[in-house]
Amino acid sequence: MKLLELKNVNKYYNLAGTQRYHALTNVNVSFEKGELVSIIGESGSGKSTLMNLIGGLDSDFSGELLVEGKNIGTFSEKELDRYRKNKIGFVFQSFNLIPHLSVLDNVTIAMTLSNVSKDKRVKRAEEILKDVGLEKHIHKKPNQLSGGQKQRVAIARALINDPEIIVADEPTGALDSQTTSQVLDIITDIARSGKLVIMVTHSEKVASYSSRVIEISDGQIVADKKGIDIDDLNVAEVSADTAEKDKQNLSFFSSIKLAFLNMKEKKTRNILVSLGSSIGIMSVILMLSIGNGVKGYFNNTMKNYVNPLVVEVNMPQDKSKSPLPADDPRSNMFSMMGSQTPFEEKDIEKLKGIKNVKSVEEGFNLISLGTNSVTYNDKKTAVMAVATISSNITSSNIKKGSLPKKDEIVLNEALAKKLGDDIVGKKITLNISIDEHSYKNDFTVSGIYSPGATTPMSDMDMTYVNYNDLKELLKNENYELKPTTMYLITDNKNYTEGIKSEIEKLGYGGSSQEIMTKMFTQMIDMITYVLAGISGISLLVSAIMILVVLYISVVERTKEIGVLKAIGARRKDIKRIFVSEAFLIGLFSGVIALGISSIIMMAANTVSNKAFGINVVNITPAYALFGVGASIIISMIAGIMPASKAAKLDPVESLRRE
Ligand code: ADP
Ligand code: MG
Repeated sequence: MKLLELKNVNKYYNLAGTQRYHALTNVNVSFEKGELVSIIGESGSGKSTLMNLIGGLDSDFSGELLVEGKNIGTFSEKELDRYRKNKIGFVFQSFNLIPHLSVLDNVTIAMTLSNVSKDKRVKRAEEILKDVGLEKHIHKKPNQLSGGQKQRVAIARALINDPEIIVADEPTGALDSQTTSQVLDIITDIARSGKLVIMVTHSEKVASYSSRVIEISDGQIVADKKGIDIDDLNVAEVSADTAEKDKQNLSFFSSIKLAFLNMKEKKTRNILVSLGSSIGIMSVILMLSIGNGVKGYFNNTMKNYVNPLVVEVNMPQDKSKSPLPADDPRSNMFSMMGSQTPFEEKDIEKLKGIKNVKSVEEGFNLISLGTNSVTYNDKKTAVMAVATISSNITSSNIKKGSLPKKDEIVLNEALAKKLGDDIVGKKITLNISIDEHSYKNDFTVSGIYSPGATTPMSDMDMTYVNYNDLKELLKNENYELKPTTMYLITDNKNYTEGIKSEIEKLGYGGSSQEIMTKMFTQMIDMITYVLAGISGISLLVSAIMILVVLYISVVERTKEIGVLKAIGARRKDIKRIFVSEAFLIGLFSGVIALGISSIIMMAANTVSNKAFGINVVNITPAYALFGVGASIIISMIAGIMPASKAAKLDPVESLRRE
């Protein structure tokens, strides 16, 4: 059985329309191990076409092309890949080394595709590079080598998987005469070691080295002559083991490494793309983390702030009574403090009638900008609010001193700070103004109030007195005080939700905390919607950007893809390399997004801590992981299309690309 036999091979190229070009006509020829065959002929005579058929790059022909008796025209794609990987070594005129890989990596790539262990790969490559005299250059990049050296690297690459057939298409075409003879020596040695070498050449001198010279003209073999005596070539027996060498495929790790090496060549581009696509992921991470931070804050505040047995009720909001115009952003703050419309007797009766309400307390909040004040040591200090004590405030809220008894007053921390640390126990005068009448009275400071958590109201100066004290004080001046806030007391905290919904049904407003919560929730919702919008759009943009960049990469690397195919890369391997690139872009942009989000988190929390004493952003490890994971997945999805395009490229076409 011959090593290689062509029987009646015809090759047509399809041209535009129904036209066909007959590139090879009835080729009948056979080859043996240890032959060094030169194919000569005019340019355009069909030499490369023949090489591509023998090399398994093109299986679209008629007739039979038998390798060890098997017709490669009938091979499946998988068999053809394996044939190229293990039986054939390809050497090209223009070397076709992969520019971003070192000499070592270029030579071992075919083994990498077979997932051979690194030690074994390097050992084998060193052996072969030594044979071609390049052992000193293994860590150079191709552009640091001379033409002759490049071709020797390409030969080493062709030999790495120990193929039986070496196909060389004008291997010395781009070399000067001195390097030509170096390369020819190496090629002769290869044939001498028992391999079949088929080489296309234009040069008489090169042809004179061969054991056989075949001339092609117009796609037909017109001469087949013996060259130098085959007996001069000391043919070694090739090992009989020509069966499957490797069924292993490109490993995930190797394809990541290949992708990484390529991306390193285009650092700026890849950094910019990663940066661009990180914006979407960043907003996703922040979106999740803001909601989380605020939720944490509210849980905390509500627990500290509100007595669970007390339900606060306010009259429905009436912004016209606010001391600020309705469109003043601060007017929200005042509506948080409750309406200024008083409860009438019939309102109180209604509230008392709610199921599970054991008792009610009256309350009053007087809010002003500048008209209310306290005088201490003849110094007048304006207060923002004069409120009454309710069961909502327990002694645990009093930081210093105690709850106010009759004729006593409690100051909040902000006001106490202004009046001095030793204020507890001192007498101060409270000046208030209601309906354009001024009243004043002396109170003893009994304690300092602290809500337990910092709220937007913490910075306002406030005082708290007993409702009855205030009522009595005003009665003396012939003013009848009516409550603006009611507190409903129950005896089991399981009842509070029911009471709250009953209040709502009756048309009254909830507690100031609830109004505040609502306001914040609205604000957070708005931020979340904006971020969701941004992230949605920018995720789409990132996906398209990655798509475009990978398409460009495919176009740029068409030739490289052709080379990879020629040395036996399967579609899957090519696809994997490009998907790995997408994976890396996704990983980088995810990590960048995480980094920027963390910086934003720190900045935002510093600001919000100063203003409200809370951390608005809280990136948990789960969100971080989710963000990076989503980035990788989106990127890989975007990479699928370009990767498939790369995988589908025709090797012959790709190699022809300049
Ligand atoms: P050689 O290598 O001997 O110079 P080729 O084998 O490259 O010649 O080409 C042989 C003939 O086939 C040429 O006339 C060329 O124009 C034609 N040919 C090669 N490739 C194609 C193709 N893809 N489509 C159409 N014609 C082609
Ligand atoms: Mg050619």
